[in-house]
Amino acid sequence: MDIVVKMRKRVGVIGGGQLAWMMAQVAPAENIDLWVQTPSEKDSAVSLATGVIYGEVASVSATAQLAQNCDVITFENEFVDLPQLQKLVDEGVCFYPRLSSLSPLLDKYEQRCFFQQQGLPVPQFSAYNHDDDFNEFSFPLVLKARRHGYDGQGTVIVKSAIELKDILVKFQDIPLLIEEFVPFAKELAVVVARSINGEIKIYPTVETYQHNQVCRWVIAPTQLNEIQVTEINAIATQLVEALDYIGVLGVELFLTKEGKVLINEIAPRTHNSGHYTLDACDTSQFAMQLQAITGKKLGGVDFKSNGAVMVNLLGYESSSQDYLSKRKAIENLGVYVHWYSKTESRVGRKLGHATALLNSTSPKDLAEEGKQMIDRIESIWYSQQ
Ligand code: ADP
Repeated sequence: MDIVVKMRKRVGVIGGGQLAWMMAQVAPAENIDLWVQTPSEKDSAVSLATGVIYGEVASVSATAQLAQNCDVITFENEFVDLPQLQKLVDEGVCFYPRLSSLSPLLDKYEQRCFFQQQGLPVPQFSAYNHDDDFNEFSFPLVLKARRHGYDGQGTVIVKSAIELKDILVKFQDIPLLIEEFVPFAKELAVVVARSINGEIKIYPTVETYQHNQVCRWVIAPTQLNEIQVTEINAIATQLVEALDYIGVLGVELFLTKEGKVLINEIAPRTHNSGHYTLDACDTSQFAMQLQAITGKKLGGVDFKSNGAVMVNLLGYESSSQDYLSKRKAIENLGVYVHWYSKTESRVGRKLGHATALLNSTSPKDLAEEGKQMIDRIESIWYSQQ
């Protein structure tokens, strides 16, 4: 009888927040030891990780230590120092996605230029160098910090010249991207994975809803026509191939009122819009990330149900509560609650998420069932008790 020896792989994650925590949950089933690099022992992933290197996300000396314990290193966020990390590559450290795949993506303006070079559809944009750069835009317009923006931090919708003046003072010395405001019909997102072997898997496109630029909920899948589905899947494929990307990547899109698809941005990591896959799909995006970067065959992206909704449980006050009774009440709806065990709540902070599986068969009923479930979860979560 042949004895198959399965090599246990060691994966390091730069970051120890909820994305690393969810990756750590699925790592044992993938025969993987997961190490994290994180500044605080309070971070979500610390309790589940095989090993922890304490250090800031941008600390290259901490990443060098991480590398000593790991076969491959991946990322939880994009706030890394690529030139410094390149020194580790030169010493033989393996990063997936590769640093060369990340390099066009870390600055929102450069990311836009990359999309444009690829002939992909994007909103009108410009770097902000002089006040004249605003001449080709009308109000409302969107101003974004070129680096280190997340969850709407660093993104402002500017309605008038007076507002613009104030915002430019506030953003003084921060490199900015100017963008046309897209009066979209829907926001969409798609998660795509590409493995070391070049295999590509694309999850169904979902609808995302943002309030104050932060994602509140996701409905999966969303109803689109065949042309739109084909176009979005072609965009996702082109992006991972052009970047020679390895791992999971989230693509955020606008669907205009005329039915046109525009790319907003891409996130080179597992994505909030794909959290529903943990409960609703054959392979979660977190398992998919581990499979892609360790050279495994990629799992399936099919739903286990007819659809799903994911509702972010966002902080609505400053507190150190664990909101146990609200979490239980949401669970009692037959919903999966994922609680990141953060020790402090702040307004808009992602504290956890809830996923409900949907049973309706027609797309219209599925959307209706999804909206009702979102309302029920949010009315418990945001209730004043
Ligand atoms: P972040 O990287 O912080 O998530 P995004 O660029 O994704 O920032 O913007 C956050 C949200 O702001 C988007 O999901 C969308 O709701 C809104 N937004 C961003 N850019 C535009 C735009 N050009 N037109 C209209 N809304 C926008």
